[in-house]
Amino acid sequence: MHPAMPICPCQVNPDSDTVMSPVAYQDCCQPYHDALYDDDVDKVDGIKAETAERLMRTRYSAFVLIKPEYIVKTTLPAQQSLLDVTAIESWAKETDWAGLEIVEHTPKLGKRHAQVEFKAYFNTKDNTASLEEKVQAHHELSAFVKVTNKANHDARWYFLDPTVAMTVTQKQPCICGSGEKFKRCCAGYN
Ligand SMILES: [Zn+2]
Ligand SMILES: [Zn+2]
Repeated sequence: MHPAMPICPCQVNPDSDTVMSPVAYQDCCQPYHDALYDDDVDKVDGIKAETAERLMRTRYSAFVLIKPEYIVKTTLPAQQSLLDVTAIESWAKETDWAGLEIVEHTPKLGKRHAQVEFKAYFNTKDNTASLEEKVQAHHELSAFVKVTNKANHDARWYFLDPTVAMTVTQKQPCICGSGEKFKRCCAGYN
């Protein structure tokens, strides 16, 4: 890698003791981020995240690089209008991100779901913290759903945001548009 090329934020893992060759941002998450602003629809379709883990990585990098639009666009479409973009942006800005560790990726759960367990590291602002306490982590288990566009059969992964309050009952059609009842589909992961 050329030294002038910055390492992708998602490739930084403060807890890793294995030496790995870091991937540059332009060869990692950048094409996914850039696709969002590309008007060429075919091109956008060509570089969507292949797996939930890939999507998770690009979302983490989007937080580090403060791209709230990417966070919104990769959340389940039915939840997008309910997201607070300003809050996402200020949280991304205020956090001193320190790296990402994918703990476990479960690529297939049922027909269309996946889960990614991860640790998103950040530096605490507490000046009295010792060196070991300085780096802390959000340890989370996130759920993702693969949504197929019925018109063009385009399948794409989306993040299921558990903090978004959906006004859907267990017996109503699922928020992901699968056609199944909510309770048989995304309710189990949301
Ligand atoms: Zn990356
Ligand atoms: Zn669903």
